[in-house]
Amino acid sequence: MIVIFKNSAQPEKIRRLCSEFEAQGLEIHKIEGRRANWIGLIGDTSGLDPDLIRAHDCVEDVKRISEPYKKVNRKFCPNDTVVCAGGRKIGGGHFAVMAGPCSVESEAQITGIAESVGKSGAAFLRGGAFKPRTSPYAFQGMRAEGLELLCRAREKTGLPVVTEIMNPAHIPLFAGVDMIQVGARNMQNFELLKALGRQKTPVLLKRGLANTLEEFLMSAEYILAGGNENVVLCERGIRTFEPSTRNTLDISAVPMLKSKTHLPVIVDPSHAAGLSWMVEPLAMAAIAAGADGLMIEVHNDPPHAKSDGAQSLTPAQFDELMKKIGAAVQFFGKAME
Ligand code: PEP
Ligand code: MN
Repeated sequence: MIVIFKNSAQPEKIRRLCSEFEAQGLEIHKIEGRRANWIGLIGDTSGLDPDLIRAHDCVEDVKRISEPYKKVNRKFCPNDTVVCAGGRKIGGGHFAVMAGPCSVESEAQITGIAESVGKSGAAFLRGGAFKPRTSPYAFQGMRAEGLELLCRAREKTGLPVVTEIMNPAHIPLFAGVDMIQVGARNMQNFELLKALGRQKTPVLLKRGLANTLEEFLMSAEYILAGGNENVVLCERGIRTFEPSTRNTLDISAVPMLKSKTHLPVIVDPSHAAGLSWMVEPLAMAAIAAGADGLMIEVHNDPPHAKSDGAQSLTPAQFDELMKKIGAAVQFFGKAME
């Protein structure tokens, strides 16, 4: 980190600030320029807040040189992490498709969809039991009963399940789940992230509606810092000025994230587009961009789905798509999980 001092800075104030840095175990390199004095801070600066340093009146500006995240940083762990959940692998050449309805609605619905997506080659069954809905009057999910139905569908089909948590107090209810999803709206629910770091179930962390990639990686850092290293990132579209799609799929996030972190990165084209016909081209783009997997919403009766019907594929459409996904994954040198 570099700290640039104002021309008018009193040497005593600079000295005092430097001793504060030294007290935190940092080494200081002084650079005396013609117009300004700078210092380079060497050591672990991840605990420093640049805004707090800027609050000193002798400071002109602060620039970070290294990233504020450590455990998720590819610099410190150059090889791809392979996350294993419910016996399935994601990352490091393993490509996993997670498919299922937005919401668990009944035993017949979730088991029927699980059977068909399993036959089509999905590696995971997805389905929301606790639903984050914009309206308090919209369907809120089957909650604990929905989790039970997911586990029953797993027993019948062998498909591991991934489902969303919204409240850290619910973690014990998720004990039988293979992968816990943190939805976009909770990406910066730091108490939830800390609690998920303290337990062992792998986590699927979705990017927030309006979060930068650095914020996304810092949220993943919370989970790894707590001791849980099994985290998969999911790009699911961000909010932009464009209203014709539900969100804008940030496809460049995939190669950018993969350059910055060793964690697997998957893409959710369903929530990105909000339109079922757009799922296929976005899924193909995700594979070409280097994604390690896809999350796709599939419903037996999309027009009557309790949530997200417009973006859901029918099982038959999903089956057709999976053939194309399989071919594309092979073309890009990965193996279907
Ligand atoms: C979901 O996966 O059903 C969901 C609510 O997704 P997101 O958090 O990406 O909106
Ligand atoms: Mn949904």
